[in-house]
Amino acid sequence: MTTHAKRMWNAICALAEGREDVEAQTHLETCQECQKLLGEARAMFSGFAYPITAAPQALVEAAYSLMPFKSSRLRLLSGSLQLSGARAKLADDFQLLLGDDSTQFRVMYTKLPAGWQVMLSMPEAESSAWKDDSPLDSDTNNRVAFIVESLDQSDLVVVSGGVHFIIPSATEVMDVSG
Ligand SMILES: [Zn+2]
Repeated sequence: MTTHAKRMWNAICALAEGREDVEAQTHLETCQECQKLLGEARAMFSGFAYPITAAPQALVEAAYSLMPFKSSRLRLLSGSLQLSGARAKLADDFQLLLGDDSTQFRVMYTKLPAGWQVMLSMPEAESSAWKDDSPLDSDTNNRVAFIVESLDQSDLVVVSGGVHFIIPSATEVMDVSG
């Protein structure tokens, strides 16, 4: 690479990525060397794919910053329920306290003759709850409920304060298979 090319490379990469750079664009109109470099840069970017497992942290964070919502996958909060007790009670009604570092949800699981009712209270009025990409109706107390055949279908998503709270199924959160 010539000294000129090295000096222009950052600007050319920016152009190849589709960014505006009037000065560089004007220069390229009269510089064949840089036109060639731009072609190479475009070819490089178009064939460029990070393996997901090896994506640099900065790229992952950049991708997340473009997403309209942040998401938070909730976990079973310690001390909310004796885990062994929850496992023993899977045939009966039980509650789980799920949350992340700042938000908590108490989810109630009620055994029905066939299946389970899942119910929780949402944290604020502008929250919404979603089951399998469909919105759930909430009552006047901002509670939502739905019925599933088995506990491994008890997952849902609550959107509140611009965050997608991913609530795993009771079986997943307790790491039990049945
Ligand atoms: Zn040039």
